[in-house]
Amino acid sequence: YPPERIRNFSIIAHVDHGKSTLADRLLELTGTIKKGHGQPQYLDKLQVERERGITVKAQTATMFYNYKLDGLKAEEGHETQAFLLNLVDTPGHVDFSYEVSRSLAACQGVLLVVDAAQGVQAQTVANFYLAFESGLTIIPVINKIDQPTADPERVKAQLMSMFDLDPSDALLTSAKTGQGLEQVLPAVIQRIAPPPGKSNSPLRMLLLDSYYDEYKGVICHVAVVDGTVRKGDKISSAGTGHSYELLDVGVMHPELTPTGVLLTGQVGYIVSGMRSTKEARIGDTLYHSRNTVEPLPGFKPAKHMVFSGLYPADGSDFEVLNHAIERLTCNDASVSISKESSTALGLGFRCGFLGLLHMDVFHQRLEQEYGAHVISTVPTVPYIFEYSDGSKLEVQNPALLPSNPKSRVTVCWEPTVIATIIIPSEYVGSVITLCSERRGQQLEYSFIDSQRVFMKYRLPLREIVVDFYNELKSLTSGYASFDYEDADYQQSDLVKLDVLLNGQTVDAMATIVHTLKAQRVGRELVEKLKKFIDRYVI
Ligand code: GDP
Ligand code: MG
Repeated sequence: YPPERIRNFSIIAHVDHGKSTLADRLLELTGTIKKGHGQPQYLDKLQVERERGITVKAQTATMFYNYKLDGLKAEEGHETQAFLLNLVDTPGHVDFSYEVSRSLAACQGVLLVVDAAQGVQAQTVANFYLAFESGLTIIPVINKIDQPTADPERVKAQLMSMFDLDPSDALLTSAKTGQGLEQVLPAVIQRIAPPPGKSNSPLRMLLLDSYYDEYKGVICHVAVVDGTVRKGDKISSAGTGHSYELLDVGVMHPELTPTGVLLTGQVGYIVSGMRSTKEARIGDTLYHSRNTVEPLPGFKPAKHMVFSGLYPADGSDFEVLNHAIERLTCNDASVSISKESSTALGLGFRCGFLGLLHMDVFHQRLEQEYGAHVISTVPTVPYIFEYSDGSKLEVQNPALLPSNPKSRVTVCWEPTVIATIIIPSEYVGSVITLCSERRGQQLEYSFIDSQRVFMKYRLPLREIVVDFYNELKSLTSGYASFDYEDADYQQSDLVKLDVLLNGQTVDAMATIVHTLKAQRVGRELVEKLKKFIDRYVI
């Protein structure tokens, strides 16, 4: 397959708008998986992904499709041409926006799926901008048109007013009944450009994702940007400097299918004898060891925004937890782990996550897949404290912030996010109140259409880490949609809140809070404790 007959695309959508179902239908349509294979959402392989209906890890699938050339060359009748289509699935959540951006870097276009009844939601906006800023062709797909409340015309108007997308470009589909699906792949072929790489240039491969397989070791998903890669080749990583010999090369069709070679523009997998997924950095450039190449742009190391302590629920289980964490991090290299000990909870770990969902998923996998029982401390964000002697301290565990530092704290910094909130207009008042209670600053306010409002806020990350989304959902009877991206650090008036039991500080309960909230948070905590702890006479 020359690049002209390859298309690399992704599907992006707000959660539940039908991304996975549409992906399944396309895999069926091309015979990549059998109809009714009994396992819906083929690309969501992890148990948590199935349960929560979200994609956590990027997956790819290669499809072969015979495209009827009728539309292009009418005089030749029903002649068909075989195309190689690579569906690069992306994680569907902001925590993974870096991973999403790397997956999109392997694509030239996306299907932007929008629910015909719900219309544009917060993640639709975030996803649109990710794709738009990467310069990708965007094909709007209005899905679920079979629903009685579907209103595709209204959605077309929203796409036009918010993103300047031409209403006549929108495809109307139902991934459930199959209606309109026949237009999807022809649109992919006609509208999305072939991959632009150079076949004659030295090899450059983009590392999309990796996972650990008991038998084969680390398996990396890659996109061949330039050149060709073959089994047996010696390759190097621009990020780590390590070199490997390729033991296996192939495509995901939809399982690992060895081909021995991947050509320019192809997406597939490699097995290279890496010991751990820590060696496989998402966004890294792989190249032939004999050449020197310019690394592909866009690589960033993982950024940990939420930290929490993990302790065995039963003190004696430390080794069990240790083992479980080691095995799980084999498959999730984006978690940072260091040992810590707490006087209250004993020996445990301080873990850094990309975000809240990432943390939840990690906990859930520890329990479900590795049978570990854990206690986790209240999540915290990385604060920076500057002292009068000029030193700086990044605090990932509030207990480690000195209560009586040697020199005075001059400035405190906390991370913020830019949040996008979309709500029906009747809830505007209560949502604005919530955001100001959470120390938010409104940046934007506009109407999407007559019924719905779009707002942008800058909020301290700390304020959304605990319970923000639940509260937003309950204030709006579940109608709010919410998304956020990391923004800068801001100066803030922060203090450490210690909890003392019987005159002893409990390290696991220390938190860092805004001065104005310290009293309230402290009172609430102590009142809660009073319910659980009996009064002892000293
Ligand atoms: P994702 O979160 O975007 O991956 O969404 P899913 O593909 O998991 O779909 C969410 C829900 O919507 C599932 O219960 C699907 O069965 C359902 N669904 C998907 N496409 C359609 C459609 O075209 N019509 C209807 N009525 N339901 C759909
Ligand atoms: Mg899904």
